[in-house]
Amino acid sequence: MSGYDADVIVAGAGFTGLSAADALVSAGLDVIVLEACDRVGGRVERTAFADGVAMDTGGQFVCDEMPNVTALARRFGLRLAETPLDGEFVFRPQASANPEAVFAETDRIHARAEGMDPRDPKIAGLTAGEWLARQNDPPDAKAGYQAMVEGLWCRPAGEIPLWYLIDNDRRTTSDGNELQYFVEGTIHAAAEALAATLGQRLRLGTPVVRITRAGDSVSVRTGNGDVLTARQVIIAVPPVMASRIVHEPGLPASLAGALGAWKSGTVIKALVRLERPFWRDRGLSGMILWRDTLGLFACDVSSAQATALVVFAGGPLAVEWSAKGRAFIEAEIRRRLVEALGEAAAGVTGLLIRDWVGDPWSGGGYSDVITDLQAYDAEDILRAGAPPVHFASSELASSFPAYIEGAIVAGREAAVRVIAAHQSAIATSASGS
Ligand SMILES: Cc1cc2nc3c(=O)[nH]c(=O)nc-3n(C[C@H](O)[C@H](O)[C@H](O)COP(=O)(O)OP(=O)(O)OC[C@H]3O[C@@H](n4cnc5c(N)ncnc54)[C@H](O)[C@@H]3O)c2cc1C
Repeated sequence: MSGYDADVIVAGAGFTGLSAADALVSAGLDVIVLEACDRVGGRVERTAFADGVAMDTGGQFVCDEMPNVTALARRFGLRLAETPLDGEFVFRPQASANPEAVFAETDRIHARAEGMDPRDPKIAGLTAGEWLARQNDPPDAKAGYQAMVEGLWCRPAGEIPLWYLIDNDRRTTSDGNELQYFVEGTIHAAAEALAATLGQRLRLGTPVVRITRAGDSVSVRTGNGDVLTARQVIIAVPPVMASRIVHEPGLPASLAGALGAWKSGTVIKALVRLERPFWRDRGLSGMILWRDTLGLFACDVSSAQATALVVFAGGPLAVEWSAKGRAFIEAEIRRRLVEALGEAAAGVTGLLIRDWVGDPWSGGGYSDVITDLQAYDAEDILRAGAPPVHFASSELASSFPAYIEGAIVAGREAAVRVIAAHQSAIATSASGS
């Protein structure tokens, strides 16, 4: 490894960067991880209430169909709590039609979209919103589908290419079961445990600002003015954040275009503590689906430790609320919970609000979304990268893109590419060619 600070420099210590580093270290490579923030986890983050109970204010839920994240939780002895989902959900405003029937119709639209070939020329150039406008379904069902799209992809349906939505959805193979579990001691604890295995290899508060490629090596300039050299680098940050790193020489036009095809999702997450899960007395699950306000959703995340509801505002709604500020968001959440669940919901004992809109180092959440209708190849181009510079993030995962599971998958997939390139470079230099 002579002459280099490391075999591989990883930029970003979210689950992608941490998982890539973990795999590279296991393969015997020398790794340095540079993280811009003063904590690890990225879009997975933990915040404590005044009484010390900590909850995930970023990524939180996992399910049985996500083998890598559940194995990671087990590896670090973290307990999965079942999300309390039993009981009736509350539909706001109360639909005159049967909510179950509206749900079924919404599912039919979803299945129709998912059943199409993303490369079908008939849908080329169509956004999800434009396609939906052409469907002959009842308005309630169409509003339900739009709410699902804007609540999950956190961008306006009129911005998301239909082909991208279909392709992305197909890689999420959990059949709507994503809320099955959360980690009682926070999933962020898994990021910290993974980071701890890296020891001195991890440097916090060290943003990567410039990457210079010179033949088979790279030098990485940090915001602190340090320059580090390595054989390869993995940029393990979301595409929008990756597009802010300067490259010398400039990246090939196709790669620069692929980085520019994305916009950050917009989401606000609130955790609301209450004395007890009073909604269960009325056979309610605590899940609330707002249809008059697209992108708003709540569910029960009570555990043995605490009674709590989580509220998500996603897509255009998050942008609107974010602009109005914290006091507005808090008042709005309190008012809407009382409207949906009754006066008992006024007894809030703690409230955490995490506004991810325009977050300085992730750009937002749940994930970046392709908004360029023509950018069919953007993901493939990013996965190919410009070796020795590689790109990875949850968005690029072959399974569960935009989820923690996807971040682990993407990190390991990048590590496989880097290890292969490393071995081939070693073999080439050993053969003297
Ligand atoms: C509110 C919210 C709720 C979510 N809920 C869920 C959920 O319930 N279940 C689920 O599976 N997923 C959920 N997600 C999505 C999930 O959290 C992400 O898909 C996943 O954590 C992304 O991991 P990543 O490592 O790819 O990116 P990130 O987590 O964004 O990590 C990138 C890291 O790179 C750092 N960085 C950025 N730029 C630089 C730079 N120039 N130099 C050095 N470091 C840099 C960042 O600080 C960050 O630490 C949620 C996300 C949000 C925001």
